[in-house]
Amino acid sequence: MKFLRCVLLLCSFPLFLFAQAKDAADLIVTGGTVVTMDGLRTIIDDGAVAVRGDTIVAVGPRAELESKYQPKATMDATGKLVLPGFINGHTHVPMTLFRGLHDDVTLDEWLRKYIFPAEAKNVNEEFVRWGTRLAAAEQIRSGITTFADMYYFEDAIAEETKTAGMRGILGETFIDFPAPDNKTEAEMLGYTEKFLKKWQNDPLIHAAPAPHSIYTCSQKILQDAAALARKYHAPILIHVAEMKKEWDDSEKQNGMSPVQYLDKIGVLGPDVIAAHCIYVDEPDRKTLAERQTGCVHNPSSNMMLASGVAPVPEMRDAGVAIGLGTDGPAGSNNDLDIMEEIDLAAKLAKITKMDPRALNAQAVVEMATIDGAKAIHMEREIGSLEKGKKADVIIISLDEPNAVPMYDIYAQLAYALKASDVQAVVIGGRIVMRDHKLLTLNEEQAIAKAREYKKSIAASLGLP
Ligand SMILES: [Zn+2]
Repeated sequence: MKFLRCVLLLCSFPLFLFAQAKDAADLIVTGGTVVTMDGLRTIIDDGAVAVRGDTIVAVGPRAELESKYQPKATMDATGKLVLPGFINGHTHVPMTLFRGLHDDVTLDEWLRKYIFPAEAKNVNEEFVRWGTRLAAAEQIRSGITTFADMYYFEDAIAEETKTAGMRGILGETFIDFPAPDNKTEAEMLGYTEKFLKKWQNDPLIHAAPAPHSIYTCSQKILQDAAALARKYHAPILIHVAEMKKEWDDSEKQNGMSPVQYLDKIGVLGPDVIAAHCIYVDEPDRKTLAERQTGCVHNPSSNMMLASGVAPVPEMRDAGVAIGLGTDGPAGSNNDLDIMEEIDLAAKLAKITKMDPRALNAQAVVEMATIDGAKAIHMEREIGSLEKGKKADVIIISLDEPNAVPMYDIYAQLAYALKASDVQAVVIGGRIVMRDHKLLTLNEEQAIAKAREYKKSIAASLGLP
């Protein structure tokens, strides 16, 4: 008996060793060309990404990771590109339901004649929930894993974003007139403080105050919103220097530019995410870099509203972290396709400077990934595929006519590949899209609901 036990022990020992030799992983994305966007911009052919929980535990050659890890699930990315999820640094997701309501007018006319009345008559908690579901489907389909939002009823947006499995910096709007949700500044402060408390330490949702802009918020509202953000270590979302009139008015009223005014009143800082930054001169760019304020460039929106062209190459040269956003999706873009913004950011800079070297393909892919993460102050968590970062991973197919042949990966990403080439999306280790199928959302229902909303919104405005 004793002998048998010894034999059994001896026999099982190597088996025991073998079974323990591989580390556990929940998921391995394997076999693709891994475009890491790490500090060295490492690209690994026939690479792999190993995930445990919501975190990346290893990135490297496929053979090495497959011999080291025993995964519970595998995603085969052979012949495809594997990238960190794209970051949409500025949008207003519930406005999907106003998509195409009235275009080709000035921002002022669009706001006064169409959007403010449409919002007053239609925006409630149910509206923002359906708009967010529709937007989540559209964003996941273009490879977006994190977005920064500014709207009303942002707590409902947070709940829907979490259900969709997306990562969000979600900003509750502060504005100088009664909003669809909160009618006074006291209500805005009360709602937002509750909102910030509720989502503290959530792995996906980062609640934030979003004072709309210097042209719609008093100095007091701007400072109160910033103070609230700092009390809870939350970011501050704001539109900055987004039109010429804003610059002119600030020079007249404050004797300085919008950026210098925000700096003077103590709002600017390393927790601010400034959308647009079109009218920023050299001293402004220096200030933005010194304060480590993140900026988000929205090329579609800036072109569609004829707002102007942000000096993106100059901002990058000055050391400002600058990402990409879709803005909109109504009136100032009309979709949430970040791959279109990658393409347009490069081309807008080129035509403005009349120089095809002004902003290259790699630079704009950086703006949608690692630089976008810096712009929203999340570069320690997301923006590249590296050990210890959140497992936000996308797989892009290279099998469509527009995807072949491929000589340069960054050029292909910037100028040839489309949102429809995004095949799979993982956010925080959870697969939210596989083989173009959304797994966390009822897309058909969201589309049907959007068609219903069109009828009631048009009727509310007396439109056909
Ligand atoms: Zn905006």
